[in-house]
Amino acid sequence: MLTPTKTNASLMARRRAALPSGLGQGFEIFIERALGAEIWDVQGQRYIDFAGGIAVMNTGHSHPALLAAMQRQMERHTHTCFQVLAYESYVELAEKLIAKMPGDFYKKCFFMSTGAEAVENAIKVARAYTKRAGVIAFGGGFHGRTLMGMALTGKVVPYKAGFGPFPAEIYHARYPNQLHGVSVQDALDSIQAIFKNDIEPARVAAIILEPVQGEGGFYVAPPEFAQALRKLCDEHGIVLIADEVQTGAGRTGTWLACEQWGVSPDVITMAKSVAGGMPLSAIIGRAEIMDAPALGGLGGTYAGNPMACASALAVLDVFEQEKLLVRSQAIGQRMRAYLQGLQQKLPGCIADVRGLGAMVALELCKHSDPHQPDADLTKRLATEAQKRGLIILTCGVYANVVRILVPLVVSDAVLDEGLTILAEALHAAVAA
Ligand code: PMP
Repeated sequence: MLTPTKTNASLMARRRAALPSGLGQGFEIFIERALGAEIWDVQGQRYIDFAGGIAVMNTGHSHPALLAAMQRQMERHTHTCFQVLAYESYVELAEKLIAKMPGDFYKKCFFMSTGAEAVENAIKVARAYTKRAGVIAFGGGFHGRTLMGMALTGKVVPYKAGFGPFPAEIYHARYPNQLHGVSVQDALDSIQAIFKNDIEPARVAAIILEPVQGEGGFYVAPPEFAQALRKLCDEHGIVLIADEVQTGAGRTGTWLACEQWGVSPDVITMAKSVAGGMPLSAIIGRAEIMDAPALGGLGGTYAGNPMACASALAVLDVFEQEKLLVRSQAIGQRMRAYLQGLQQKLPGCIADVRGLGAMVALELCKHSDPHQPDADLTKRLATEAQKRGLIILTCGVYANVVRILVPLVVSDAVLDEGLTILAEALHAAVAA
């Protein structure tokens, strides 16, 4: 219930006093409740949620099917540690996620709790299998805040600064970026440069990439890039890992973004929306790679927790029943059409409207020049949107990208309301 003394300002003051300043805070808002694609704060103010808890709420807030599944599970048992006492839901979820990964080969799957842990474990299985150390990741990529996650991440400030040394043998290639003049060939050449300058391919265990860079700015890897990487990995016995932590679970219009590649990675990571808000991440891949670590080498106390498995199984049902993949494509088209219209109306500041499925972004620039990123305008836009009741996230190597990760259960009416606010906020931010 609302308590009049609890305001966003008073709670922020307590937050500042008790929590370290390195813990970011997008908005000075404390949430009271949320439903679908809407949120209400402790002061009763309503917001449309275009952030989805950073790509976690594809099935929306407080979905009744997820709540019911978790309630049923909670009344039976909440924790045994899967490696001590097993439960069927873990195995059932693994079977179902395996069936959804592309590639005509025998696959296995296991669970952790966070995206970063999934990435850590993808590297562990790749190293154990290949008996090699090297890993190639990409500039602008984001893979988490653990030491390996940071090492793989291709952005120093704020993710890596002050936290080294990092695990060795990690190299960064260039990610294709049409807008900023990095062709697929340039990106492939940069891998060859690593082979020439830093490490021979026979010592590289894995190449890891996001099919669409999330934190990096929603740049989409063209399928021909993935196909070339597949060829390269086959040639040198390197494990190809798709980090689908942000792109997975229907965000891009298919269950996994790599389904749109035309080739299959060897290992994928999932987290975020796969369990609709419960901490669960998955590592799925070729059975022989997944079986490489010795007994006891994989696992974790909370990994694949029963509540999270129950929620994830309900997510799969909701996707089926509510046809959320079709909805993801439709939402993506609707957003893109609207934002391209806005680009026409407000010339000079929108360098690009891009994305895959419902993973859509707006890149902002100065003086119609895509090479002059406008981080200030982007920040003002987020503030103006918040004032008008819309939560949007920014991202990008130059902090000049607005990304939309709206829950896929959003109605057209709420989606349009959010887009209208976004347009008004951009007009206000430009005028300011
Ligand atoms: N990989 C990708 C692609 C991500 O987007 C993220 C989170 N933004 C992570 C890994 C790390 O996930 P987590 O924060 O759950 O550790």
